[in-house]
Amino acid sequence: MFRFLRAAEHLRSRQVSNSLVSPAFSLNKAGQFPTQSITPCAGFSSAKYVRQSYQDSRGYTHFRKKGTASFGAALQDPRKLAFAGATLAMGSAAYLYNLETVPVTGRTHLILLSKESETYYGERAYAQLREEHKSEILSSYHPAVRKVERIGRQLIQHLPETFPGKGAAHLSEVEWEFTVITSPQINAFVLPGGKVCVFTGLMQMFPTDNELATVLGHEIAHVVARHSAEKVTNEIFFTMLKIALLVLIDFTSVISATVAIGLELPFSRRCEHEADLLGIQLMSAACYDPRVAPGVYSKLGQAENGQKEISKYLSTHPTGDDRAEKLNEALPSALARFSASGCSEYHGTLLDVFRSHATQFASKPTVTDDEFKN
Ligand SMILES: [Zn+2]
Repeated sequence: MFRFLRAAEHLRSRQVSNSLVSPAFSLNKAGQFPTQSITPCAGFSSAKYVRQSYQDSRGYTHFRKKGTASFGAALQDPRKLAFAGATLAMGSAAYLYNLETVPVTGRTHLILLSKESETYYGERAYAQLREEHKSEILSSYHPAVRKVERIGRQLIQHLPETFPGKGAAHLSEVEWEFTVITSPQINAFVLPGGKVCVFTGLMQMFPTDNELATVLGHEIAHVVARHSAEKVTNEIFFTMLKIALLVLIDFTSVISATVAIGLELPFSRRCEHEADLLGIQLMSAACYDPRVAPGVYSKLGQAENGQKEISKYLSTHPTGDDRAEKLNEALPSALARFSASGCSEYHGTLLDVFRSHATQFASKPTVTDDEFKN
């Protein structure tokens, strides 16, 4: 009651016009408050156009904007339902028309961004990156750059045979470039249009050709699967979904968090797993030993240890252990491709060969009789 009286005084003193005040708080002609009971907060009333209000700690009354007050009321509003329905229908039609298929995994995904636009945005981002890091970019004569170029070009050469068919038709227009940045960061990424960037910190952590081929294969695979274009497309869809939901429910932050945790983060993690799977096939075709790949991601996982549980659910990347597990499952098909590639030259060093066999041996709990005979 005390708060209510203070609010009344506040409204009187400021001579707030009756038209700006909700009916429950309006003054009568004599300048007195009506005697009927007053509900300070309307809450989730189903009444149409209820103007909700609440009091702050100082007793002042604030009004929320006009609108339907509940999800149930929104469902009974034909205009809002029609708008939400039309948005979803248009989205569904666009979705079906622009589906593409990712090689190897066979996953169908929606791509609304043209190849030209993808290339344009990639080149713009690449120019900006070169400007921002110009003092840290190594020259093309530097041994680290030559190493990345050598392995990267070897992988690219094997793209057509690894990913034949329509799903990878866009690759013929990609102009690949490899950049090495001097930085202790353990990082590598690819920009749309085939601009691969590697940090020297990562190269120090993964010094062998097979390990670096695992990382580069992964980055190249993002371009193969057009993940950037898919991400832009999904952002358009997520925005449309948010708009459709916002018409029905006025909880912006809840919707944003729900869409991020429920849709956007799992999408990013799925892209990472997919790039791992495509990458291991590509490195196998290019004669880099795929048995090294699970170890690369385990090592990365150890580097980010400590935040593992948080990153599993709230990170854009899956944990290193998850990635290693999925790659171990994919090893038989990758090894079959490695054997069938008929490589005249094995690109790994002797140390790689030793490590691969040591890892393979250590991962087997026992040697069966049949294996012993072979
Ligand atoms: Zn990635």
